[in-house]
Amino acid sequence: MSEQFYDVVDSTGEVLETAAEQLAAAENVEHIVVDSIPLERERPPLSIGEIKKLRKQYVTVQHPRVIACQHELNLNAQPTHRNCESCWFAWFQNHGEIVQQLDEMHTSGNDAAIIQLQGKKFYRRWRQFMSTIAQWKQQEIDEQAS
Ligand SMILES: [Zn+2]
Repeated sequence: MSEQFYDVVDSTGEVLETAAEQLAAAENVEHIVVDSIPLERERPPLSIGEIKKLRKQYVTVQHPRVIACQHELNLNAQPTHRNCESCWFAWFQNHGEIVQQLDEMHTSGNDAAIIQLQGKKFYRRWRQFMSTIAQWKQQEIDEQAS
């Protein structure tokens, strides 16, 4: 560093700031900068958990949680917990239109098309959902009859 400091003198010749003072001030600033900015290698890398926590903090759209299993459910895609019955059930419950469409395809004998469009697992889960709903309906009818 070849920076030079000179005494600062005002128009009346009075010394406002000496070179030594300026140098001290400059060194002070340097110290502050060095102390407050940690060196790159001193900062531990963020862990996956921390990144997830940060993401949660900044993502404002929270997916609804299925009460039965406490899994988060993204209604814009098929359930992430592929083998969780509760997730699938909640998913179908929240997609009345799709369920209705599937039922129409099913009654007109287009099950193969459902599998082709959505996959075997989806199809199986949907059948499961429909039979549960049918059971519930039957129970309701039985209860009303008794
Ligand atoms: Zn679940």
